[in-house]
Amino acid sequence: MSLDYKKLGLKAGVEIHQQLAIKHKLFCQCSAAFQDKEPVFEIKRKLRPVAGELGDIDVAAAFETLKDKTFRYKVYLNESCAVELDSEPPHPLNREALEIALQIALMLNCEVPEEIEVMRKTVLDGSNTSGFQRTALVGLNGWLQTSFGRVGITNVCLEEDACQIIKKDKKAVIYGLNRLGIPLVEIGTSPDIHTPEQAREVAEKIGMVLRSTGRAKRGIGTIRQDVNISIKGGARCEIKGVQKLNLLPRIVESEAQRQKEVIKKGKGVTRDVRRALPNGRTEFMRPLPGAARLYPETDIPPIQITAKRLREMRKTLPELLDKKLGKIMKRYSLNEEIAGQIVSLGKAELFEKAARLSDTKLAANVLTKYSRQFKIPDDRLLEFFRLLGKKAMPKEVLEKMLEGLSKGRPVKEVLKLEGKVLSRDDIIKIVQDIINKTPQALNAPRPEQALMGLVMREVRGRAPGALVMKLIMKELKK
Ligand SMILES: [Zn+2]
Repeated sequence: MSLDYKKLGLKAGVEIHQQLAIKHKLFCQCSAAFQDKEPVFEIKRKLRPVAGELGDIDVAAAFETLKDKTFRYKVYLNESCAVELDSEPPHPLNREALEIALQIALMLNCEVPEEIEVMRKTVLDGSNTSGFQRTALVGLNGWLQTSFGRVGITNVCLEEDACQIIKKDKKAVIYGLNRLGIPLVEIGTSPDIHTPEQAREVAEKIGMVLRSTGRAKRGIGTIRQDVNISIKGGARCEIKGVQKLNLLPRIVESEAQRQKEVIKKGKGVTRDVRRALPNGRTEFMRPLPGAARLYPETDIPPIQITAKRLREMRKTLPELLDKKLGKIMKRYSLNEEIAGQIVSLGKAELFEKAARLSDTKLAANVLTKYSRQFKIPDDRLLEFFRLLGKKAMPKEVLEKMLEGLSKGRPVKEVLKLEGKVLSRDDIIKIVQDIINKTPQALNAPRPEQALMGLVMREVRGRAPGALVMKLIMKELKK
């Protein structure tokens, strides 16, 4: 039974974490590729609670230290150095990462602070060797247009990713240092979401904006979603680690349901951090930490952002993928599925160039259907389209050509395969011969199908099926 979310007073906001596709980490020169598989050694650390400047210990801090855990960190040769080990101060902020984060902030209609200041955010689960995560606010007070109105963007932050858990038990957690420090953009929305489906739409749209930069990392674990949920009389709970977009609506629904049941039992809803489970339910992780656990990172000087720089950036912001999609569909009469594939593969520009040189359908076909099977550098592919021109190719010949190109054969040599391909006139002649030899085919319930079978038996591999069908229809109309 679905819930009446209006009556429940559901409020939700999402928080998206996206790794950037970038060479180096945020505060050192280590590779951010996250590909090292074999650690070279391991270090051991223990966490000790220290009272804050005001003499109190944060509720989240107290909760973590209760567990008295040992943390072990795996060190990787190319993907960790003394910075990740916290035995050397951070290097200056990665400027390329800052540029991408600023782009994202501007694309989300944010105000950008005049000064970007790196802050430390206390983290007590050992996922960061320093005991804090470095984060810089690069945008605030923005908005995102959705089908149900504007959703506020409260913050866009550039931050370092945390260590990845390799293994954990009651006494120890083993972390990999290679994910620590990978540049990450965090985007938080206002609690403007009022139904589970709206949560999905907002997360999807933000994902689209991120991919529009061309610098969002792809693949499992490169984007992570958290969602904050409350209902009337309940309390804000943060659900962490929603890996799949499709799960978001179910998570929102089950958390609203859970809070409703707690209230019904006459109990108070506590402010928790909960973990998203693959079945759409959630489980308790820890109490929600108090706010204001940020203090300045004194090792890194603030960076000034001038109005001039922002003006320049606004002029060259990447086009949004959904706009690009609409444009391609219209300009080249492609359906949404094919155009969507081209855009999401990041091949929109390549496709437009190819479509100008060659046949639109052929270009779309090659870039979507065959791009995984045959890896061909863009310039070689464009040279191929240019020399091929608008000619239609039978599937068999096309595949052989693409295979040749992927193996590095010269474009001109590959195009010699074209010699096998029948011309339009050759095909028409074959169609006419077959009609003359087997006139009974014309009496079949669907004569074009009957002829198609006969003609294809003769020309398979030497003429594209679609062209053959077109010419048969033409002959039948005579
Ligand atoms: Zn490093």
